[in-house]
Amino acid sequence: MSDQDYPFDGFNTRAVRAGQHRTNEQEQSEPLFLSSSFTFTSAAQAARRFAGDEEGNIYSRFSNPTVRTFQERLAAMEGGDACIATASGMSAILSTCMSLLKSGDHVVCARQVFGTTVSLFGKFLPRFGVETSFVPLTDYDAWERAITGRTRILFLETPSNPLTEVADIRRLAELAHAHDCLLVVDNCFCTPALQRPLEYGADLVIHSATKYLDGQGRCVGGAVIGPADLVDEEIFGFLRAAGPTMSAFNAWVFIKGLETLSLRMRAQSENAAALAHWLREQPGVDHVYYPGLNDHPQHELAASQQTAFGGIVSFEVTGGREGAWRVIDNVRLMSITANLGDTKTTITHPATTTHGRMTEQERAEAGIHENLIRISVGLEDVADLQRDLEPALAASRGR
Ligand SMILES: *Cc1c(COP(=O)(O)O)cnc(C)c1O
Repeated sequence: MSDQDYPFDGFNTRAVRAGQHRTNEQEQSEPLFLSSSFTFTSAAQAARRFAGDEEGNIYSRFSNPTVRTFQERLAAMEGGDACIATASGMSAILSTCMSLLKSGDHVVCARQVFGTTVSLFGKFLPRFGVETSFVPLTDYDAWERAITGRTRILFLETPSNPLTEVADIRRLAELAHAHDCLLVVDNCFCTPALQRPLEYGADLVIHSATKYLDGQGRCVGGAVIGPADLVDEEIFGFLRAAGPTMSAFNAWVFIKGLETLSLRMRAQSENAAALAHWLREQPGVDHVYYPGLNDHPQHELAASQQTAFGGIVSFEVTGGREGAWRVIDNVRLMSITANLGDTKTTITHPATTTHGRMTEQERAEAGIHENLIRISVGLEDVADLQRDLEPALAASRGR
């Protein structure tokens, strides 16, 4: 894309064009290669491909042209050299850990990460001798104190799920590099349309493509983006050996999702901002978490690090878990589902769903209370979202 004869390099242009390699059929839209394996013109060519002496397709566990288009496009959008697509966001995190860590290594991870990420680091990786310390996302002294001689990875999400806390990526990248560690950022909430962590010094970006990259609630997938020596060598090596591969069909769906990502992220951010401001005025709403609000503790940082504030709004209601459940049970338009990033607005009770596998103490430390509700704001009319919530909030207050 940086070829002087092809100067068309804007972000939105990359989102619709990068990674497309037309075949002799001269198709306009990216083709879907539903083929588990690929043929060779001779035994000698097969041998060259397997030996890595010749580029080309072999077998869709680790090489498929549709998956490759998705990888090239997402890498171009994040500003990374390389991208590996995986079967899910969790397998992107797992592949990163399995390829870059070994027994005896140590990870420092923000407490405020996706609940399943906490299980992976806290419960499963210790069985293989990899220990993790969890620290408060925005307590930079705690990050530094937690780093030991064995620490290899610093891991975070920003904004965090579900409380939308924002961490300074530049500052954590400097800290990581001062201690010979890698900074890994799960960029799920912002996507490259709103924030590109590699530009701030992060080493690897993780995605759950299931969320905004698809954006229409269809497929599960993930990705890791970063420098070729880590992604194309180490992580690809694990993917080829272990097989947590993205299917060609899912890659094709995500390719089309990437084409509208920028438009959706901007529109969903606008809707979320409008809803957050409105929620703050509603009786029975105790607190609204949204980085676009002036009194959000990291509002300034979010404004400098992101190009919009994102589509996730969380809020606390009076009446504890019962109050929160009553709001959820009384909406008629919003979908009660744990997924986020969809064009359809979704409403979730984090404490008993996405973060339900954490212990009560872990949840308390992460600030995820029983009266918390998370909304992933979609593309419906904001007035209809308000019309949906207003009676639900009234019902929760017992009126
Ligand atoms: C959903 C999610 C994941 C996991 O992705 P899956 O595609 O569900 O495996 C990881 N991180 C964040 C922030 C998520 O929201």
